[in-house]
Amino acid sequence: MHGGVRYLEAAVKKLDRSQYDLVKEGLKERYRILENAPHLAHSITLVTPLYKWYEIPYIYAGLFLYDLISGKKSLGRTQIVGRKEIMNIFPFAKKEGLKGGVRYFDGAFNDARMAIALLQSAKEKGCVVRNYNEVIKFKYKDKKICSVEVKDKISDEIYSVDTDFVINATGVFCDNIRKVDDKNVHDIVEASSGIHIVLDKKFLPNNEGLMIPKTEDGRVLFMLPWMGKCLVGTTDEESFPQEHPKTDDKDIEYLLRHMRKYFSIEIKKSDILSSWCGLRPLVSLKHTDDTKGLVREHYIEKSNSGLISIAGGKWTSYRKMAEDVVDVVQELANRKNLHTCCTKRYKLFGSRENIGNIKEKLDKLGVREEISEHLLKTYGSQALVVADFITRYTEEKIHKKYPVLEAEVYYAIEYEFVKNPLDFLVRRTGLGLIDLNAAKESLGKVTFVLKESFGWSDEMSSVKQKEALELLNKGV
Ligand SMILES: Cc1cc2nc3c(=O)[nH]c(=O)nc-3n(C[C@H](O)[C@H](O)[C@H](O)COP(=O)(O)OP(=O)(O)OC[C@H]3O[C@@H](n4cnc5c(N)ncnc54)[C@H](O)[C@@H]3O)c2cc1C
Repeated sequence: MHGGVRYLEAAVKKLDRSQYDLVKEGLKERYRILENAPHLAHSITLVTPLYKWYEIPYIYAGLFLYDLISGKKSLGRTQIVGRKEIMNIFPFAKKEGLKGGVRYFDGAFNDARMAIALLQSAKEKGCVVRNYNEVIKFKYKDKKICSVEVKDKISDEIYSVDTDFVINATGVFCDNIRKVDDKNVHDIVEASSGIHIVLDKKFLPNNEGLMIPKTEDGRVLFMLPWMGKCLVGTTDEESFPQEHPKTDDKDIEYLLRHMRKYFSIEIKKSDILSSWCGLRPLVSLKHTDDTKGLVREHYIEKSNSGLISIAGGKWTSYRKMAEDVVDVVQELANRKNLHTCCTKRYKLFGSRENIGNIKEKLDKLGVREEISEHLLKTYGSQALVVADFITRYTEEKIHKKYPVLEAEVYYAIEYEFVKNPLDFLVRRTGLGLIDLNAAKESLGKVTFVLKESFGWSDEMSSVKQKEALELLNKGV
């Protein structure tokens, strides 16, 4: 969770107020996530090792300003770090030519769990949440959208939902939906891919991250402590919308090559526990009439037929994006009785009770330390509900190396919209993201619970398992 250090550099270099405002907004939102979902978010420290003397004051000044902008919401002061300390924190860092570095604070969160907490919070407030449901068509009355046709991809059922407003918040697929409404529109989103590899924690033994602000081709490279492992990644390669973007050998080689530059030990392909790729939706207004040239991360468009599309943005600013969309709906509805956005101080599902009290209750139930720590970090106060599933079903783990339980699969089916094995193994627990082999080895157990719960036939169950394995084999 970040305000965007790179925007700040642009703000200073070009004396650009709008870039500065973006950073400020991002930093405010970072703080709100920490406040509203404390079991899923925390602050982290990142160190930038520097090999040229002149870079130390430059990077320090930038990161000092980054912290200053966060004002009272600061997570900690930026500091200059000596060469010796850097070697203590990152024992494998390249010592030769190292002059020192800068440490700064930022935020981190479990994004998969956050998405689920948001959906559950929405559900509590009366939303209907449906997984594997695809919008395929709009129906119109007086040239305005009056109904949405949706396909349930599990049952193949097609149904309609009458509607006053349709909000298109589909990330890199935004333009596909805009074209369902009007096939002649120009694209407003470009997909940019980012790759990650996951390594053992031994590469980052001290729980501090490492950030390289500019690689040889100008990208940011980071190594972060993440879910008990070391996450290495970079962003910004042009791509196109697709459901399962893949990392290829070239991407992995790129990351390994850069790591060789900053690390004195050889990191081999066989050290990689998992690798994956994501698509970032970037606003691109070059084909539109919007000529204001504003720097913006997200952009809201209203079509003549009433489709409201929100394009771009970043995870950190998801709440502000939603607030801006709600404001647009308010304005269009011209109805004073609609609620205004109330999420600035809205504690998300699982975040409302004191975690210490929940921990005590788990202890009283006899839940083992390793398991209760995992449950609290993953589910917050819902850990107690999961504990109930342990009592009802089993305390078996799905894999001997990780504290994830079979009982969580039952819970995830009932509470977290899980329909397929990879929903659980990748998009709820993240196991497939941090250890591909462990995910493959757990597939049988997870599929078995789904089979029992959904009444799948043997044949259906093996089709589902095979599909999941194929995706895992290609890299999640
Ligand atoms: C490598 C990488 C690193 C990043 N790092 C950061 C970071 O450090 N901090 C940060 O704040 N942000 C970061 N981002 C950006 C952030 O992850 C994205 O902006 C965010 O995930 C996009 O969310 P979204 O909901 O807009 O899109 P998505 O998560 O893509 O969701 C779109 C959804 O729409 C659904 N959909 C599509 N078509 C239809 C349809 N016809 N009917 C129904 N549903 C449909 C899709 O199934 C999907 O679930 C990063 C992105 C990448 C790729």
